[in-house]
Amino acid sequence: MFLMWIVPLLLIGLVIYVVSGNNIINALKPVVSRSCPHCDQAVQSDWKNCPHCGRTL
Ligand SMILES: [Zn+2]
Repeated sequence: MFLMWIVPLLLIGLVIYVVSGNNIINALKPVVSRSCPHCDQAVQSDWKNCPHCGRTL
């Protein structure tokens, strides 16, 4: 009878682990692109100047 309770609990825990794990991975994922503070166009994080408006990032 104990296994009848532990199996669904493990499945629920696994689902929560996978969902929260994906969120953690997304949160820790390095930002590969951001937006220019002046013209709001997408720019790479290592760019020094915005190619759209030419202003310093
Ligand atoms: Zn810009």
